[in-house]
Amino acid sequence: MSDRLPGFSTLAVHAGAQPDPTTGARATPIYQTTSFVFNDADHAASLFGLQAFGNIYTRIGNPTNAVLEERVAALEGGTAALAVASGHAAQVVVLQQLLQPGDEFIAARKLYGGSINQFTHAFKSFGWNVVWADPDDIASFERAVTPRTKAIFIESIANPAGSITDIEAISTVARKAGVPLIVDNTLASPYLIRPIDHGADIVVHSLTKFLGGHGNSLGGIIVDAGTFDWSTGGKYPMLSEPRPEYHGIRLQETFGNFAFAIACRVLGLRDLGPALSPFNAFMILTGIETLPLRMQKHCDNAKAVAEFLAGHPAVASVSYAGLASDKYNQLARKYAPKGAGAVFTFSLKGGYDAGVSLVSKLQLFSHLANVGDTRSLVIHPASTTHSQLDDAAKVKSGAGPDVVRLSIGIEDKEDLIADLEQALGT
Ligand SMILES: *Cc1c(COP(=O)(O)O)cnc(C)c1O
Repeated sequence: MSDRLPGFSTLAVHAGAQPDPTTGARATPIYQTTSFVFNDADHAASLFGLQAFGNIYTRIGNPTNAVLEERVAALEGGTAALAVASGHAAQVVVLQQLLQPGDEFIAARKLYGGSINQFTHAFKSFGWNVVWADPDDIASFERAVTPRTKAIFIESIANPAGSITDIEAISTVARKAGVPLIVDNTLASPYLIRPIDHGADIVVHSLTKFLGGHGNSLGGIIVDAGTFDWSTGGKYPMLSEPRPEYHGIRLQETFGNFAFAIACRVLGLRDLGPALSPFNAFMILTGIETLPLRMQKHCDNAKAVAEFLAGHPAVASVSYAGLASDKYNQLARKYAPKGAGAVFTFSLKGGYDAGVSLVSKLQLFSHLANVGDTRSLVIHPASTTHSQLDDAAKVKSGAGPDVVRLSIGIEDKEDLIADLEQALGT
């Protein structure tokens, strides 16, 4: 065996998986079972007391899901991961370990529309208060820090306009404030950006998008970078204080650099319950095997489509960080040199009506609310994903009334351009 470390494409196919020890099955089996037999009473007690690792019940862990967790942790460069039922479930489970009622977290204003909703409404009912900051103005994060701040949340490539966030600058603010930086890496995937390399302490994903990649399965994942010290100042009692239900153990003290992933599993997933089905884990694992191939094609197609749109007379502007003229191009070259992702927006000279008409005339693009599918997708955010925002907030989050969002698939780029050309007309 050589001692070289496996590359990204090798990890995408192999990390976490071995031939099944009982049957020799080479693809990871779907362990479609709710529960697992204990060896004896002592074994059962040690599993329940967190003195031994092993399978108990699929709400807390499952062998198919475990392969997915190891694979994504390897691709992101983290110490451990926890798979859950959706991207939104990942966000709830992460923040439940960090915030007590009355606490605050700072979030970038440019976010997936569903996350803006979740943070504004559902989290408020838990007593978790979001404070918005502008990812284009790093000082706005600094100004938002208070003694009750427990975390900072950003997207690496931000919805809907595909803008690139300066992760390192915001991680410096987080470090100074003594709080973890959480990065939603859904639109980049670890193939384009590995936030942990730039100072992230926790990475979350909607596996539903590019990682699964085929628009057929919901899932989410939490990756622990193993970088944050949870014991300081009693700020994170879930991790630093004795847990009564586990014989008084302290998670940080017992599990060290993967304590956060353990907390998410044995406190978050155990009690909140958003477990990922092993079948979905299997579908997503199969998707991840081709992530490097798909992601490169997504990006190359997106760049070609963005260039076409930028030169079209009906188009007012294109927001794609991969274009040399884009205001995020410098950040794209630094953080995502292989490509600036495949989700971006453009605006039409004909405004709202032209946007609605374009969406109705497209044939190859599917009009729906998703991104990161093999198929190319189109949506008008102002009337759908971002419709809950008022007009000023829509514009601030990059979803003004004249804006159309594309998620470019892996079809032939000539066909995508031809479809846009016929729909734009002249
Ligand atoms: C889709 C998405 C989510 C939510 O994920 P679900 O799997 O739909 O719950 C969160 N963040 C981003 C960037 C997304 O695109």
